[in-house]
Amino acid sequence: MVTITELHDRIVRGESTARSEVEAALERAEQASGYHALLSLTRERALERADLVDAQIKNGENPGVLAGVPFVVKDNFLAFGAPTTAASRMLEDFTAPLQAEVVERLEHAGAICIGKSNLDAFAHGGSTENSAFGVTNNAHDMTKVAGGSSGGSAVVTALNIVPFALGSDTGGSIREPASFNGVYGYKPTYGMTSRYGVVAMASSTDTMGCFTTTAADAELVMGIMAGKDPKDSTTLNDYFAPLAEAPKSLKIGLIQESMTDDVDPEVRSAVTAYADTLRAAGHTVESASLPMSKYALAIYYIVVPAEVTSNLARYDGVRYGLRADGVKALADLYGLSRDQGFMPENKRRIMIGSYVLSSGFYDAYFQQASKARTLLINEYNDLFKTYDVLLSPTAPTPAFGIGENTDDPVKMYLADIMTVPPSLAGLPAINVPVAKSGAGLPIGAQLIAPAQQDALLFALAKQTEGGNYDR
Ligand code: GLN
Repeated sequence: MVTITELHDRIVRGESTARSEVEAALERAEQASGYHALLSLTRERALERADLVDAQIKNGENPGVLAGVPFVVKDNFLAFGAPTTAASRMLEDFTAPLQAEVVERLEHAGAICIGKSNLDAFAHGGSTENSAFGVTNNAHDMTKVAGGSSGGSAVVTALNIVPFALGSDTGGSIREPASFNGVYGYKPTYGMTSRYGVVAMASSTDTMGCFTTTAADAELVMGIMAGKDPKDSTTLNDYFAPLAEAPKSLKIGLIQESMTDDVDPEVRSAVTAYADTLRAAGHTVESASLPMSKYALAIYYIVVPAEVTSNLARYDGVRYGLRADGVKALADLYGLSRDQGFMPENKRRIMIGSYVLSSGFYDAYFQQASKARTLLINEYNDLFKTYDVLLSPTAPTPAFGIGENTDDPVKMYLADIMTVPPSLAGLPAINVPVAKSGAGLPIGAQLIAPAQQDALLFALAKQTEGGNYDR
């Protein structure tokens, strides 16, 4: 696969056209339909926009740094040209009246959205098996899950259908599927990218990021998506600027709680080998401890359902989305519309969230979890007094089998055990593909930096680009 910059240069130099690149990407998407990674193609709009870019180039205008580069958007981002379903029956027929801010920024830079990718409905899940429209297959083994919730975006990137795809990451939804499919997956500092125009999951940890085949491409795409947006008051000031030089002599902490016997031995040895690669680049890697990480999943599965139940309350059969037929009473309209529109995992989170927020249980659960979250954040702050960057596996195992964890939500939640802690603390993190298992499945390492040090993560990932991983 060509990188974004190579593709852009080809188009701008006249060796190719936006139209032919977009047509080729649409063709690849159709040929790979068996993976079920895409829910819709935005063919008409994509070709129109490609012609526009080609006309700009012909007229000597500046078409933007992503001119003619095709990309895919997770189907919980509002975007024109196809419905925005969030992979749910609830929004099956929902047509976006506006576009997500990050999509707008990418289009402004000349990039062309060719389709919307599959996900766990409302981004609740870690395998893309919770989609109302079918399961996505792993790019390396059709019998394995794609990971989730941004499984479709990871797979289209791994299959070289497009050079980049967008995802949302609330607790691991970019990093874990990136790890399962052997691509880079970037989750920014909370507030680096606007949440405006993306179906809300958990507002205090939702972030918008991307999948790419190189770290340099991730840096390029994130640079365009990043920045203050008056429409999302949690966005930070424009702090992001790529580093000019490769980092030297960093102190890197390998989180020991993520390297225990519970973690797949092939994953542990791949991450150990990556630590050696980092050492060979001139950094020191030492064992570091994050004791609060053992409570991270417990905290996350209280805080996130509480926010989920609040955010999903807007789907009531009246204002948005599916409305149940033949209903006589208002309460039935709410109940039946929600029953028909939500997947079992959505309902589970609504119920848990309502429970932990209810009077009598709020103090025992939500407030307690919020306090524990602060303790976790404090531990990170302490660790970053000693270490510049932290390292762990991205997931405890390579991609698991389709259907293997669907009957046991707790087993499913364990796939997020390493991605959830940085999310709760709002920290930037990247999945770096580092090895393949004996069975040929990708394994990823996660690099984590202090808030707003996104530039350091890209620089470090670029420094080890390629490493031991053979796509
Ligand atoms: N798998 C995690 C969950 O189910 C993360 C989801 C996400 O980041 N959107 O909550």
